[in-house]
Amino acid sequence: VASGGIGANFDLIRKNWPARLGTPPKNMVSGVPAYVDGRMLEITEHAGGRIVNRDRMWHYTEGLKNWDPIWPNHGIRILPGPSSLWFDAEGNRFGAPNFPGFDTLSTLEAIQKTGYDYSWFILTEKIIEKEFALSGSEQNPDLTNKSISDVLKRVLPGAPGPIQAFKNHGEDFVIANDLKELVEGMNKLAGNDLLDFIKIKEQILARDREMDNKFTKDLQVNAIHGARNYVGDKFVRVAKPHKILDPKNWPLIAVRLNILTRKTLGGLQTNLNGAVLGIDGQPIRGLFAAGEVSGFGGGGVHGYRALEGTFVGGCLFSGRQVGRYLAKGQ
Ligand SMILES: Cc1cc2nc3c(=O)[nH]c(=O)nc-3n(C[C@H](O)[C@H](O)[C@H](O)COP(=O)(O)OP(=O)(O)OC[C@H]3O[C@@H](n4cnc5c(N)ncnc54)[C@H](O)[C@@H]3O)c2cc1C
Repeated sequence: VASGGIGANFDLIRKNWPARLGTPPKNMVSGVPAYVDGRMLEITEHAGGRIVNRDRMWHYTEGLKNWDPIWPNHGIRILPGPSSLWFDAEGNRFGAPNFPGFDTLSTLEAIQKTGYDYSWFILTEKIIEKEFALSGSEQNPDLTNKSISDVLKRVLPGAPGPIQAFKNHGEDFVIANDLKELVEGMNKLAGNDLLDFIKIKEQILARDREMDNKFTKDLQVNAIHGARNYVGDKFVRVAKPHKILDPKNWPLIAVRLNILTRKTLGGLQTNLNGAVLGIDGQPIRGLFAAGEVSGFGGGGVHGYRALEGTFVGGCLFSGRQVGRYLAKGQ
């Protein structure tokens, strides 16, 4: 069994949603293809396999509705740099460690505890140009095509093509030349009046003031300076620190962020050869599992709060374990 996780099955996600992450989201976008439906998990369980850690899952908090979907309800994750300001649905800025790109599961918990299943980035044109990348091979043609000249173009001014397409067509984007207009646009997009212009302005002003303070205690501003200490990130990934309310950095941009389903960290329990264990803890003869369906090889090789990007390695490794075992003719 190598059928992947449950990320496209929202009913199953809500049913298994862990209490520690607040209430399950009513609305989500799907970060995985429709076949990632968990059906083989149920079939294998009926065949006697044991499922463990059903409530272990990893969903992203920076999901965009894809304007050009490949699968139903297709969501794309923003891989954000550190400078966007992150607000909950009522316009309260999140505190540490819930800054862009910092701690996915902690931010997911913070968002779900607000009672709303979306949040907002507010940023400038200068930030989006440098700091937005999109997850998925089709969203990064320069890397996928191994084109060094295209990768180098990331240093040039202007948003990369796929980002610009989202700015033009994506339903989660609001772009304005004035903060009041931006906040009005955000309320209109959300279909409510939860955001108060003065409250948002005060918080952005407070953050902007810290741009002039060498000894700032604004931990996000510190993180921006810290990220720029690495020369690679300074050139291609982190915008030069600037004031969000300074019109020379505009237009202003707001992005509504949806919960985007992605990874399943529980699943079929196996032994170290990938043999599926039954309820009695004994291997079921002839039944093997690998990859996400077995929690990346029996319960999450890298742990529950695994580092970003370390998931596929466990899937490949568990497949290799099964392959090697079977190749020995056992
Ligand atoms: C956009 C995106 C970006 C990602 N980025 C990263 C990253 O940067 N780093 C990282 O570590 N991980 C990343 N992941 C996660 C990683 O890709 C998956 O965890 C991994 O591919 C899972 O591998 P798998 O072989 O277990 O399952 P899958 O790759 O999901 O393959 C399952 C296969 O089983 C087939 N199948 C399903 N049901 C049936 C059935 N009933 N009958 C027959 N066939 C069936 C499917 O067609 C599919 O071919 C990303 C995932 C996505 C979607």
